[in-house]
Amino acid sequence: MRFKCIRCDLCCGTGPNVVLTVFDVIRMAEYLGKHWRSFIHDYTKVIVAELFVYIVLRDKGNGECVFMERDREGRTYCRIYKARPMRCRLYPLYIVTPKSKYLHLDTECPGVGLGEEKSIPLKLVERYSYELAYQYKELVRLVVDEGIEPLKALEQILDRLWNEAEQGAKWADYKYIESLGTF
Ligand code: SF4
Ligand code: SF4
Repeated sequence: MRFKCIRCDLCCGTGPNVVLTVFDVIRMAEYLGKHWRSFIHDYTKVIVAELFVYIVLRDKGNGECVFMERDREGRTYCRIYKARPMRCRLYPLYIVTPKSKYLHLDTECPGVGLGEEKSIPLKLVERYSYELAYQYKELVRLVVDEGIEPLKALEQILDRLWNEAEQGAKWADYKYIESLGTF
């Protein structure tokens, strides 16, 4: 498909609904030189919905993502671009469920249909699907099977991944994620 971002700020500036994976949290926290707990506290909302828990990027109170900035010409950019979440890397495509055979396209994005033809970065899609499925499976195991309270379960998963990152896990390096391609 053809796609070219025209930096219109529609996606980053009109109410962030970017749900982060636990892997995104670790990568973004590391990139900013923060512990995951400070990152969650400073930049996210954690929503508990029945047995599940979602980590969502906060906005600045005006719909703009907490990481969205403007340059001197007023054009928007992402302050954390190199370590941006998977959801943002793949936009205007998105994964609805990790098991789905299809990617969905947000046709609201005015960049769709512009520019050169691009291939879908399948390695990135595979990794993102894996991370979504991992988070879902781990939450089910801890919350449903072991009866752990959702926020405690999330804490356990993040602590475990933080330790993996400290030990040099490849997935924790944003450069590795960049090497999988973007859209
Ligand atoms: S909505 Fe599309 S064109 Fe506009 S900034 Fe986002 S990705 Fe770029
Ligand atoms: S993290 Fe960056 S790319 Fe993603 S919504 Fe925020 S400003 Fe936009």
